Amino acid sequence: MSTGTDRIEARNELRTAPTEQFGIIFNGPNAPLEYKKLPMPQMQPDEILVKVLFTGVCHSDYHIWKGDWKEPAKRPLIGGHEGVGVVIAIGNKVSFLSGFQVGGHVAFKVYSPSSFVSEAQYLHNYCLGCETCLSDDMSSCPDSRLTGYTADGTFQQYVARKASSLQMLSKDINLPEATCICCPGATVYRVRKLEVCSDNIGT
Ligand SMILES: [Zn+2]
Ligand SMILES: [Zn+2]
Repeated sequence: MSTGTDRIEARNELRTAPTEQFGIIFNGPNAPLEYKKLPMPQMQPDEILVKVLFTGVCHSDYHIWKGDWKEPAKRPLIGGHEGVGVVIAIGNKVSFLSGFQVGGHVAFKVYSPSSFVSEAQYLHNYCLGCETCLSDDMSSCPDSRLTGYTADGTFQQYVARKASSLQMLSKDINLPEATCICCPGATVYRVRKLEVCSDNIGT
């Protein structure tokens, strides 16, 4: 839980937040990575602005950079889909009941569906209103976009993200270790869950 001091410091940071930031750009398949100055993300009223404190580099990032996958990536793209950070600002359409607080720690959520058909995915956005979303298959939502693939990701200093795509973290959680849970941890957890389920089906 955030302390009063944490929240005041975060608000001070918001007042002095830069108008520009730095990030890593994937310009095209296998093109040299470019570290450059970028505009700050434009936070929508239903989004939360997060200062990225730690981000992992995943094998998926490598394939997206190389253009190895059939689904075309956004270009130019800011890669990265696993990370943790601190809440800098909360849009006025984010429900108070969501529990997010300025100064609180959050993780960029990897969606691990209960469906055996869908893969674990790093969803950036989904509508939460269509038939597939309501059946817990957000990855099939026509509005879905993937962080660091078809939407800009965590290889930048600030990210704006819907509350439903963020996971609140307790202040006593080790942040570098939490970063590792975002993608590899969720992926392994899903495999173990499927193994347990298939074991049960076989008995
Ligand atoms: Zn990953
Ligand atoms: Zn949907």
